[in-house]
Amino acid sequence: MPARVETYRADVVIPCYQEQDALPLTAPDILSYFRKLQVSPKNSMSSFRLLLIDDGSKDKTWDIIEKISRNNHEVIGIKLSRNYGHQMAMLSGLSHSSADIIITMDADLQDDIQAVEQMLAAYESGSHLALGVREDRTSDSPAKRWTANTFYRVLSLLGVNIIENHADFRLMSRRSLDALLDHSEVNLFLRGLIPAIGFPVTLIPYTRKVRVAGETKYTIKKMLHLALDGVTSFSVAPLRVIAALGGIIFTLSILSGLYVIVERVFFPQNTIPGWASTVFPLLLLSGMQIFSVGVVGEYVGKIYMEVKKRPRFIVEEITPPNIDGNTRH
Ligand code: UDP
Ligand code: MG
Repeated sequence: MPARVETYRADVVIPCYQEQDALPLTAPDILSYFRKLQVSPKNSMSSFRLLLIDDGSKDKTWDIIEKISRNNHEVIGIKLSRNYGHQMAMLSGLSHSSADIIITMDADLQDDIQAVEQMLAAYESGSHLALGVREDRTSDSPAKRWTANTFYRVLSLLGVNIIENHADFRLMSRRSLDALLDHSEVNLFLRGLIPAIGFPVTLIPYTRKVRVAGETKYTIKKMLHLALDGVTSFSVAPLRVIAALGGIIFTLSILSGLYVIVERVFFPQNTIPGWASTVFPLLLLSGMQIFSVGVVGEYVGKIYMEVKKRPRFIVEEITPPNIDGNTRH
């Protein structure tokens, strides 16, 4: 991993939904922290911008963003037409960025902003991704911890590679962001995609704090939505389960179909007229149907993966380096 020596520009992307209580408290802290970083000799960050994304808030969030932007030349506000959800709001900020590094964080400063310094150090020593990992979740409610743990367990069971306790507090290099934006699928599940990009990664542990103001914007409905997105955008395992279930039921129905025939032929005194001719086709057909749905599901799964048009691979390096100029951005 070669260390980086050049100076770089940073964009900080912050999705904001109904954050009228938190933003006036957190934005000044974020600004002053990055202003300090900018002049600090400990890193080579030359300038920064704050991209505040209003994710269709119905409260005064946008007015606050406009005001902050008027008073601070580093701040750019982007207002989305409606509430698209945290992930899409973040993506809109990422798509608007032209910086060399991009940092994403929440508006409520639950993530320890001091960890950004370590993220910059990781970037300067060659990492393309520096991912904040919550070390301690005691500030979250027991219900939130339980749902989060279950979420990670289900995802790993389904074979989705996700970094545990990493939410959306991270630094990305231009290169890794470009690779991410090459994924043209509409339903981007960033937490799953980002580890899948590859490139050198550093995990930065930090302690998660309590929200400074306002309530959590992740309602149960939004959390379920996120979990479902995580499962369905990376795994066709649920379809496989149907196929397997269909296979099992089909086998059972053949066995019980045989039993019906044996009963009918050898022990006719046990059966009533019409029983075999009704039950046998019923068992066979229902088994076949579920199995067929499973087979169709397999193809649907393949189509689903195809239509995403994900890049099939991402090149990290070519040697000699400027063979076609593609490895530099
Ligand atoms: N958020 C968003 N759109 C939404 C929900 C949340 O942009 O539909 C933002 C929110 O303003 C915050 C971040 O996503 O900056 C994380 O949300 P929150 O802090 O409420 O979630 P929690 O930390 O409780 O999981
Ligand atoms: Mg929060």
